[in-house]
Amino acid sequence: MLAKIINRLYRGDGHSFRSFYSGTSFRMWKDLMSHYSDLKADTKRMDHFTSLCVVLYEFLKDISLPNTMRISYIDLMKTPYDRQSELLQNYYFLCQCDRCMDENQIKYVHGATCLNKQCDEPVSIPWKEDCILVRKPEKKTEENGELATDNQTVEKIDENSALVAVNGNDSKEDALHCKECGTKYTEKHVDVFVKTMEFTHVHLQNMERASVAYVDVCQYCLDRQEGVLHPLNVMHAQTLDHAFDALIQVQLWEKACLYAEKLIPCFR
Ligand SMILES: [Zn+2]
Ligand SMILES: [Zn+2]
Repeated sequence: MLAKIINRLYRGDGHSFRSFYSGTSFRMWKDLMSHYSDLKADTKRMDHFTSLCVVLYEFLKDISLPNTMRISYIDLMKTPYDRQSELLQNYYFLCQCDRCMDENQIKYVHGATCLNKQCDEPVSIPWKEDCILVRKPEKKTEENGELATDNQTVEKIDENSALVAVNGNDSKEDALHCKECGTKYTEKHVDVFVKTMEFTHVHLQNMERASVAYVDVCQYCLDRQEGVLHPLNVMHAQTLDHAFDALIQVQLWEKACLYAEKLIPCFR
């Protein structure tokens, strides 16, 4: 398989062969090649690259940088399930990085604010039926009793991921308490949380579908989320992100900066 790929890359120009992974989406062989030499030959991209370097240099000159800089292929402000689905669809692997799999991270994804103002712990409250936050690989046992490697389970994962619902797995009684400080979530507060999540979900979907963010809609959602959704709740982060985009569109730079600052913890 690898020899085939190398052979084809060696012979071809990379533009002439496409592989479709869905009805309309495809990858070309050149996607497998290093983009580096292309970039240098392309004056338009070099132009963008040079100006980006200047801007980054100006902003980052006083900050010590790690030896390796990495870029993210996907939007971090999504649930692990959404990120994994995107990576699976576009890059053909099931991501099992710490960020996706760590229960300590996952509890923030749809977390509610603890009613105890001194407590930072997110509270898990089921708000939607069958809400799946992460894909967990199915570890199948081989005949000799050893666990199959990830490679061997990839195809199986593709068709038939073992889906684990994190929200909703807890017994209801358990889920209505803060696990850290024990503060009880009253029925009324649960109701407010559920309605806020549903409301936010609808508006985020509408904005995504229309590919446009509205300042007033975002602000209204954020007002409702205040003190209800945990500050690291991914839907709160997405609302902030949309608000930021909307304010940039209307060139309200200073206001946009306020939202950008609130977004910083969501990237960690
Ligand atoms: Zn991951
Ligand atoms: Zn608490």
